[in-house]
Amino acid sequence: MAKKRIAVIGAGASGLTCIKCCLEEGLEPVCFERSNDIGGLWRFQESPEEGRASIYKSVIINTSKEMMCFSDYPIPEHYPNFMHNSQVIEYFRLYAKEFGLLKYIHLKTTVCSVKKQPDFSTSGQWEVVTESEGKKETTVFDGVMVCSGHHTNAHLPLESFPGIEKFKGQYFHSRDYKNPQLFSGKRVIIIGIGNSGGDLAVEISHTAKQVFLSTRRGSWIMNRVGDHGYPIDVQLSSRFKNYMKMICGEFIQNMYLERKMNQRFDHAMFGLKPNHRAISQHPTVNDDLPNRIISGFVKVKGNVKAFTETAAIFEDGSREDDIDVVIFATGYSFDFPFLEDSVKVVKNKISLYKKVFPPNLEKPTLAMIGLIQPLGAIMPISELQGRWVTQVFKGLKTLPSESEMKAEIAKTQEEMAKRYVESQRHTIQGDYIDTMEELADLVGVKPNLLSLAITDPKLTLQLLFGPCTPIQYRLQGPGKWAGARNAILTTEKRIRKPLMTRVVENNDSTSSPITMVRLMLAVVLFAAIMSYF
Ligand code: FAD
Ligand code: NAP
Repeated sequence: MAKKRIAVIGAGASGLTCIKCCLEEGLEPVCFERSNDIGGLWRFQESPEEGRASIYKSVIINTSKEMMCFSDYPIPEHYPNFMHNSQVIEYFRLYAKEFGLLKYIHLKTTVCSVKKQPDFSTSGQWEVVTESEGKKETTVFDGVMVCSGHHTNAHLPLESFPGIEKFKGQYFHSRDYKNPQLFSGKRVIIIGIGNSGGDLAVEISHTAKQVFLSTRRGSWIMNRVGDHGYPIDVQLSSRFKNYMKMICGEFIQNMYLERKMNQRFDHAMFGLKPNHRAISQHPTVNDDLPNRIISGFVKVKGNVKAFTETAAIFEDGSREDDIDVVIFATGYSFDFPFLEDSVKVVKNKISLYKKVFPPNLEKPTLAMIGLIQPLGAIMPISELQGRWVTQVFKGLKTLPSESEMKAEIAKTQEEMAKRYVESQRHTIQGDYIDTMEELADLVGVKPNLLSLAITDPKLTLQLLFGPCTPIQYRLQGPGKWAGARNAILTTEKRIRKPLMTRVVENNDSTSSPITMVRLMLAVVLFAAIMSYF
């Protein structure tokens, strides 16, 4: 029987891993990438390019290398834990080369439309129209994986800022920001305190005369560097902590996180304290912001009520004159114009089963990949989504009925609305471990801790108390990787390696007596909790 042909739209991190997933399941991938190279958002260019996400020159990723790698390809041990964007793209290039993915990619080829074939209800096939160098082509595919990203279209809410049309200075969206040189000696307002707003405020404050960071509701600020210098996501993302989170509930979780963040600097004193609790907002990660605030280079302000030709008037009645530049770091909106009416997006809200499958198609042959805003890295989630989707395309897994999927979507959306403050950026949120475990279960690769506890206690301890890294989903089940066990047990080594630039005695704290005592206590505690259930 001929192999099923799958169209993969986009050759960013999600597209690359989906090509590999297709190959692993014996499907034939054909990837279309509108730009002239792979890497998606992580390929920096001096000017923004239409239809592709755009980053600034200095961007350092805020998910650490152990938590963001693809599951069977750890990031080289000498790479820093938080990589500059040039190293992130380098890693994607290594991945593409290692698994021979490049030959499946058609560069400079834009997908213009994806329509159901007339016999879709029986064939599940799609007619994909592409355009390359002015030439259009139509091809029929058995499945489509949409990997076109969701940080491309600038959300520029000018209607919320009366007077901006009269403002004589410069204003633009953070998508168009590249480097700080242009702001030398200027008075700059940055609107929005997501990760873009935080990064830009810090960077521009090194050259500008004054930076004002305007936020309509404040924010909790996390560090990349966690306790004892470990990457924060490594520290927070263990299965054990996740179980504790479930047991303790949101109240305790918020108390714990807010206490930690306030220990570093008092959010109220720095004018940042929001009314909402820590887990009700997508985290802003910034180690430098409090330093720039305490030294006066960044001043935190409330929401802008209106602009005049040269000034900003804030909701608290205060005013800042002689403003030269306003940068709207107000996030992104997403859509899929090529899908026409197969999938609807209204104000960043979309109805997808497990954030992947539209529930109303006669055949499950269309999947959205990476369309999630996780509290953690997107790439390994895209990979697990790809592993599940290719199993579904192949007929190895089935989806529930339309009504069951719709009921689950409604429940998920209700829970999201209950937990997060209402905002256009909180429509596709997902917790990292919960999302990974759920997908892994669907794929059949969730590690079985009970059986492993008997056969491999050393590994089980790491799976319980160590960071829940993507590699853990290559231990068992389809796509099992022989190198997984060793890679998991050497996680600590890869975290430490890039920091070992000077010889220091007793550098290895993993075997210290305190750590061992802590570990034993944790085991006893865990056993007690498990026996309680
Ligand atoms: P993208 O990287 O956006 O790639 C999509 C690709 O699809 C592009 O190459 C585009 O050209 C192509 N394409 C689009 N439409 C078409 C079409 N019609 N036809 C053909 N090709 C098409 N995530 C993290 O996990 N960790 C981070 O620390 C992190 N930092 C970020 C920093 C910034 C500044 C921003 C804006 C986002 C960040 N993200 C981060 C999120 C980011 O979206 C993901 O890291 C990742 O890039 C998603 O990969 P993707 O392949 O899904 O999308
Ligand atoms: P974002 O997370 O959507 O944040 C947008 C900010 O703008 C929020 O503070 C939001 O406030 C505010 N905002 C939106 N509309 C507004 C309005 N009408 N009036 C006032 N304020 C408004 O966007 P982002 O910061 O660009 O981040 C996008 C993605 O890129 C995220 O996934 C982020 O983690 C990632 N990123 C990562 C890095 C990094 O790794 N270093 C750097 C930059 C971005 P509300 O919360 O009140 O809506």
